[in-house]
Amino acid sequence: MNLILFAVPFFLVLIAIECLADRWRGVSHYRLADSINSLSAGVLSTTTGLLTKGLGLVTYGFALEHLAVFELSADSLWVWALAFVLYDFCYYWLHRLGHERNILWAAHLVHHQSEEYNLSTALRQTSTGFLLGWIFYLPMAVLGVPLLVFVGVAAMNLLYQFWVHTQHIPKLGWFEWFFVTPSNHRAHHAQNALYMDRNYGGVFILWDRLFGSFQEEDDNEPVVFGVTTPLASWNPLWANVQFYAQLWADARRAERGWDKLRIWFMRTGWRPADVARKYPMDKPDLSRFRKFEVPLDGRVQRYVALQFCGYVALGSYLMGVESQLPTAALVLGWGAMAWGLFVLGMTLENRALALRLEWLRLASNLPLMGLAPLVGLWPASLPAWIALVAYSLLSVVALYRCKDRFTRRAS
Ligand SMILES: [Zn+2]
Ligand SMILES: [Zn+2]
Repeated sequence: MNLILFAVPFFLVLIAIECLADRWRGVSHYRLADSINSLSAGVLSTTTGLLTKGLGLVTYGFALEHLAVFELSADSLWVWALAFVLYDFCYYWLHRLGHERNILWAAHLVHHQSEEYNLSTALRQTSTGFLLGWIFYLPMAVLGVPLLVFVGVAAMNLLYQFWVHTQHIPKLGWFEWFFVTPSNHRAHHAQNALYMDRNYGGVFILWDRLFGSFQEEDDNEPVVFGVTTPLASWNPLWANVQFYAQLWADARRAERGWDKLRIWFMRTGWRPADVARKYPMDKPDLSRFRKFEVPLDGRVQRYVALQFCGYVALGSYLMGVESQLPTAALVLGWGAMAWGLFVLGMTLENRALALRLEWLRLASNLPLMGLAPLVGLWPASLPAWIALVAYSLLSVVALYRCKDRFTRRAS
């Protein structure tokens, strides 16, 4: 059973409850476009994970088979407890270097791009973490932690981190000493200089206290959420490649070969001297910080929200049946997901091309319907056909009804 899939309904219900709490307390921590962008990054991340998790599992399994020092049993509660703590220790170092090194920050920054802080931010995850993240967990394989235990504690660690992404819970007394909490994780998501590069723990904040990276949330320094080089986009694909693209451009511009190579592994923000001189990049002044916002008609916003629900359903379906799906089906599912979320992002940005792209996205349901049964994404059954045709026709009607509201300024 995939624990994360099982948790999806709880995530959605808790997000709805937090929205109600916002209303009740007269605060506003949610903006539709931001939440859809965060959730899009999350759905894209889990779907990408179905295709890429093999890398982490195979390397872990290989290390376990050839390098394990002990033979630990998955039946022992102590092994589970030890693995749970050890996983968080490894996570601490992955997360810390994820902030401190250019190439790892390029993957991790997706989680930090939101300028809001709410439960939807928790689900905002990278799609490229699989490239290097697995290296940090190899010590667990060397110790002999069974694969089943490793996968189990990894899911538990991720699930724990969900609830700390809220502004509704204040400091929690003695709990703050030992565990990651909403308060100390809010500080982690800040772009204020005081909080920069602090509080990396996943479950235990003890690592930060131990290794000198702890910072308490200070009432005199309200947290400004986000990153110092804003994404300024609602496109979840661009969110995932933004910083790689910058590093690549800088590496190409650098004159010295050594700089082209080392830029990837240097401290986050490091740029070759000649490139920084020729192409200066100013960090915006935090006192003049404004959240990224694009005016968009309310009816178009509701249309995008409804369409997005279809991708949550597709992502959940893929997670649910992944073990029965051939790779070609997963690739097709990923392609449909990436294309669809990209177009919805363009619509949220109120781009001039958005309406045409949206018609094209709906039209692309036709070849998808033909291809899906061929590659085994879903069976060629009548109910599947009826559901997809009904969804497509309803979408066409809905788009027709709000087509005049595209690329208009909201009133
Ligand atoms: Zn982080
Ligand atoms: Zn977080």
